[in-house]
Order: sequence, then C-alpha cells, then structure tokens
Amino acid sequence: MTSTERPSERAIAAAEAHSAHNYHPLPVVVASAEGAWMTDVEGRRYLDLLAGYSALNFGHHNRRLIDAAKAQLERVTLTSRAFHHDRFAAFCAELAELCGMETVLPMNTGAEAIETAIKTARKWGYRVKGVPDGRARIIVADNNFHGRTTTIISFSTDPEARADHGPYTPGFDIVPYGDLAAMETALDAGPEETVAVLLEPIQGEAGVLVPPPGYLAGVRALTRARGVLFIADEIQSGLGRTGKTFACEHEGVVPDVYVLGKALGGGVVPVSAVVSSAEVLGVHRPGEHGSTFGGNPLACAVALEVIAMLRTGEFQGRAAELGEHLHRELAHMAHGGAVEAVRGRGLWAGVDIEPSRGTGRQISERLMDRGVLVKDTHGSTIRIAPPLVIGEEDLDWGLDQLRAVLAE
Ligand SMILES: *Cc1c(COP(=O)(O)O)cnc(C)c1O
Repeated sequence: MTSTERPSERAIAAAEAHSAHNYHPLPVVVASAEGAWMTDVEGRRYLDLLAGYSALNFGHHNRRLIDAAKAQLERVTLTSRAFHHDRFAAFCAELAELCGMETVLPMNTGAEAIETAIKTARKWGYRVKGVPDGRARIIVADNNFHGRTTTIISFSTDPEARADHGPYTPGFDIVPYGDLAAMETALDAGPEETVAVLLEPIQGEAGVLVPPPGYLAGVRALTRARGVLFIADEIQSGLGRTGKTFACEHEGVVPDVYVLGKALGGGVVPVSAVVSSAEVLGVHRPGEHGSTFGGNPLACAVALEVIAMLRTGEFQGRAAELGEHLHRELAHMAHGGAVEAVRGRGLWAGVDIEPSRGTGRQISERLMDRGVLVKDTHGSTIRIAPPLVIGEEDLDWGLDQLRAVLAE
C-alpha cells in the first residue's frame, strides 16, 4: 500500500484482502446516499440506475422508511416467532390485502422465500392434490434466476451459478421461457405429479426478458386446468417496478402464489414473503417450517410503510410514466445503431449494446467515470432500473451519459 493511493483504492484493496471474491463490484466505494444519488468516500456523486436490483425502489434514505425504522428501533426489534409481537398481524393482513390474497408467510431473503414456496408447493401436492410420496415435480424456465441456495441453483441453467455445487436437488423440469407449447407439453408429461410452475413474470437477471404477449395468461389457463399451482416470483418485478404493483397484472393474471422480496424491505432490512390462499399456505403446521428473523418487528414496521406507500398507487404511476419516457429515449438510441435491442417494462430496461462498443462491464465502467452507476448482466447487456423516486431531469442526465459513452 502506498501513500499515493486514493481512499477508494485503499478501501478496495482492503476489501479484496479479507473477503471472498464472489462478486466483482465496480470500483466505487459508497459512503452515503440520498434518493437516486450516492456519494463515494472521496465526495464524488453518482446517479444510481441499479437501485439494489430493485431493493431500493423507494430510493436511498427514504424519509418515511427511515422514520418507520427508527421508531421501531426504539421499541422492539426482535422477538423470534416463539412469541407474538404487535406489528405482525397488521403486516400479514395488509400485505395479503395488497396482493388480493389471504395468507402470508414471512421470511427474510428472496431465496428463502423461494425455498418456502417450493416446500409449500410440494407439501400441498402431497397433502391436498394427492401426489404419491416423493414424486412431486415443479416446472421452471431456462435462464431463470430465483436465488442462490443449493436447491435453487440445482434448476439454474447458468453454468456460473450451478457448477461445482452438486449433487443437485431433483424434482425440477426446465422448459424454454416464453414458449407456451413447450409448457403445455411439459405439463402433460405428468400432470398428476406436477405441483407447480415457478416463473419470473419478467426475467430480471437474464437481461430483463419480457415473455411474448399471452404467455403468462396461457400458463395461468394451463395450470388452472390441471390443478397445478402457478408461483410468480415477483421478487424483482413486483412492488411498482413495472408500473403496476405486480408484473402479472399487465396480462390480467393472478397467480396462486406470489413470492416477494427486495423492495418489500424498503432498502433498509431484508424482508421477503410467500403470499397465497389459506388452503395452500395452510399446509404448514407448527414446527414444520420457520426462520428466526422472519417477520421480526423491525422488518414488519418497515414493510408496513412500504405497503402503505404502494397503496397510494403513486409509485406505480411514476414507474409507468417515467418508464414510457425511458423506453422512448432508449428506442431513439437503438435507431442510432449503438444499441441492438431494448427490452423491459416500466422503469426497468435491459439494453443490449452493439458488441463493438465494448462489453457490458466496459460500458458500466465508462458510465461510472461519468457519474452513473449501472450493472451489466450477461455479455453486452446492461440493465437500467433506477429508484422509482428518480427525477425526470436526473434520468435524462443519466441517459445523456449513456449516449456519450456509446458515441466514444
Ligand atoms: C434477487 C432475486 C431473488 C433472490 O433474492 P435474494 O434476496 O438475493 O435471495 C430471487 N428471484 C428473483 C427474481 C430475484 O431477482
């Protein structure tokens, strides 16, 4: 370490020395943040066009969320589920109402909620549907991202996520995303043993892939006709991002099970949940599933504020309106030739950069130098998902930087 190193370089080198290298972050060291802006340890400001993969839908340091957290910090933060606490009932009731469903099972991270949905679907299959013991089958899509546990990566098609983590959990069949005929064939290969179809209504990590019109509605009809649960992983797509509370709403689809996470914790604490009917979630009896931190008072207090903010429709409206603007601007860029394809819905876009302009990583680094933070996904794709509270001028400024980087 030399004295000529900048504070951020020192911080990065220190982190490299004592952390596992399971991420490759952009070389920026954030010290504080407000709204859509982050400030690094050297006082440089950056526009956040990632929003913690949608965990920060309501922006950094959101006054209402911070106040709700502070008030709860002064009362009680954790009871474990061994005892009741006075924020739990309201959290469950209000989240169920927001989802138009009956019953909530809270967890912490998205992956835990997906695990919970898988366990629930299997148990429902054995107890309610009458699937022979050990035979329950769940259909998933290729290029899925549902989290990082051993079971979840067992049905990933991404070699980076999956390799060297076996032996893998059986019981999952993979079909091409967006292909309704393939879904029907897979369902009909074993409708009696199939307990669920698990899908992202828009695939986030895969590059913001929107399925063809009619796909989600088609999956809904196919699963309903065969007594198979439709589980929608709305961890990234839900809670305002696409211009509606749930991405499924764009097709008028109501799944049997919502899996929520990320924005549910307001960027303050990890909060996730499985939301469904009393029949489906009613399969769990005391002692059969749980989590020490799931549904804790602090999590419930923050999530209650998130739910109250979503109930106004203000954030969904903002995402829809600004999203239209975003997609109009990106379509202009696509005309210019530097952008090959743009996908997405609401304030959420996957942008395929023409490969000769650089990899997604290189584009992200050049944007960082201009004060804009995004993250690449696969190859030459960058994803744009700003906090829903971003100002229109700030968004335009960010897009100007992207235009400049692509023109370099
Ligand atoms: C992020 C994400 C998950 C996993 O959530 P974690 O909180 O990281 O465990 C699952 N599904 C989708 C669609 C996600 O975007």
